[in-house]
Amino acid sequence: MRSRRTLVLFLLLGLFRTLHSQPAAAPPKLAVIIVVDQMRADYIDRFQRDWSRGLKRLITEGAWFRNAAYPYLGTVTCPGHATISTGAFPHVHGIPANQWWDRKAGRQMVCTEDPSVTNLGYDGPGQEHNSGYRLEVPTFADVMRTERGAHVVTLSVKSRSAIMLAGHGGDAVTWMSEPLDTWLTSTAFARALVPEVKTFIAANPVDADFGKSWTRLLPASRYRDPDDDQFERPPPGWTQAFPHAFNGTAGKPDASFRVQWDISPFADAYTGRMAAALVETMRLGRHDTTDVLGVSFSATDRVGHKFGPRSQEIQDQLARLDRTIGDLLDRLDAAVGKNQYVVALSADHGVTPIPEQLQRAQLDAGRVNTNDIVARVESKLGPALGPGAHVAKLDGRDMNLYFLPGVYQKLVASPALLADVVEAIESVRGVRRVYRAEQLRSVPAAGDAWLRAAALSYVEGRSGDMVISVRPQWISSAEAATHQSATSDDQRVPILLMGTGIKPGRYDQSVTPADIAPTLAKICGLTLPNAEGGPLTAALR
Ligand SMILES: [Zn+2]
Repeated sequence: MRSRRTLVLFLLLGLFRTLHSQPAAAPPKLAVIIVVDQMRADYIDRFQRDWSRGLKRLITEGAWFRNAAYPYLGTVTCPGHATISTGAFPHVHGIPANQWWDRKAGRQMVCTEDPSVTNLGYDGPGQEHNSGYRLEVPTFADVMRTERGAHVVTLSVKSRSAIMLAGHGGDAVTWMSEPLDTWLTSTAFARALVPEVKTFIAANPVDADFGKSWTRLLPASRYRDPDDDQFERPPPGWTQAFPHAFNGTAGKPDASFRVQWDISPFADAYTGRMAAALVETMRLGRHDTTDVLGVSFSATDRVGHKFGPRSQEIQDQLARLDRTIGDLLDRLDAAVGKNQYVVALSADHGVTPIPEQLQRAQLDAGRVNTNDIVARVESKLGPALGPGAHVAKLDGRDMNLYFLPGVYQKLVASPALLADVVEAIESVRGVRRVYRAEQLRSVPAAGDAWLRAAALSYVEGRSGDMVISVRPQWISSAEAATHQSATSDDQRVPILLMGTGIKPGRYDQSVTPADIAPTLAKICGLTLPNAEGGPLTAALR
């Protein structure tokens, strides 16, 4: 009797142990990161009634975080993608901007530039040199690849987007050259062209879209803003109004055609089809472990820069992206299995509306004159330090001010002159604050949110000697609209999660895109050692 009881006890104990050693749910077969370049958080509120496919499905079947924002200053593409992929902010992942002044080389350095690698061209000659080596921490994809043997595929028209989603390796990392004349990978990722990518591109030449036209998808009455606004800045060959034909400026599929195609939903549709094809041909989601797919759709950013966020073009772009993402999810359902994968969608930054449109509405808005800033700084430094130039670079795209070698050290040694220079910059219209490098080397735990934002974007050796923060609704660019500020226009983005391990619903807590990678890692049973964000546990099963 006694031995039989003992046996039963042992069996129960064994069963209990077995149940507890199993993961809560089977891990996903595929983890998908989708980035919509320049998607403002409020686009969901403004446009969701236009949607019926992919974006609609993510909102209704997934977890929608309505209060997500980047807490840092440099709200542009390269740092945004790096934050999504690593779970860290620029001061940790090392990417403060899309490009920065390289003090040693005496020139602008692109965030993915790597002279030690060679780019390989799929449908044109290899050109440029790109890798993720300037990214100083591993991505989610890197950790999945090195610890779990995941197959990693990332793609985007933009090199910085495809590369930052992958990180330091991957099976197929694909992007287009800067002049848009060929698809590329580099020797950082592959010894030779990836056959599956080569096959897709050969069967789907971009030039097949030449002569087509971008027309409005929705009934005319559905568009909220006028089509033909004088402050929109379309590319050569297009007017401010629909339709936008892909005819280039010379009636042939040349560089001007590629520019038009790049500023249209056709570029996203192409990217989505390539992503689906690579999932199928590279058998993502059909290996022993969780694979990783990263797709960054660039067209919303291109359209937003030219036509602004309050345009029929941006509304139509999002309506068409809803279809593109719907098609991609349908093909993931077929290839991987419905609910067998997890998707996270977010954006790398938002966008500030066209300043002239805001001025028309009597709002405080405008364009910061960077030439004026440099002139005022030089006028202070000339009498004190001698004639000639003292400023090495101020680029409106990042608003980091770099002095020529030795100049900033002299300024720091002369507090009155330094204060004079700061005051001169802060007196320029549209400038909110100027920060000096030594103020940004550590991140304050609380208090001044603008200082904290600038410190989170500060990378020693790459960031400027001074960092200029602009006022809300002010931009420093010749584009119709742009982003790069620490304002809610540029910082707020959506976060949508759907699939394996995700509890659907609407969530109002304040979160950041640095929470995405830790959330995916937790679903896959991993932790990311360098992440500053944390798992979005409220939305986990
Ligand atoms: Zn942009």
